Amino acid sequence: MSRFHMCMSVRGILSRSNRELKRMLPMFTRDDGSHYATTDQLRDALLDEIAKGHEVLPMGKCDNFDWKDGCKGHEEPAEVEAGIGGKA
Ligand SMILES: [Zn+2]
Repeated sequence: MSRFHMCMSVRGILSRSNRELKRMLPMFTRDDGSHYATTDQLRDALLDEIAKGHEVLPMGKCDNFDWKDGCKGHEEPAEVEAGIGGKA
């Protein structure tokens, strides 16, 4: 079993209307954890991501992320749940 993180298309976000983007503002943070005050600031930051070759953005903490394809998946320790080996 693999677990996948959600990701968002940068171009998809940029194609939204300002009205929609404004609603999405709280979902985005800068590297320092602060929020964008305006949709213009967010659009600017997203264009920077495109410039870096980033097509998608991770939702949440992902340590196996591809900036073009998104989360590559995380192996779940299924054997533990199945009870192989007894108590961990
Ligand atoms: Zn992931």
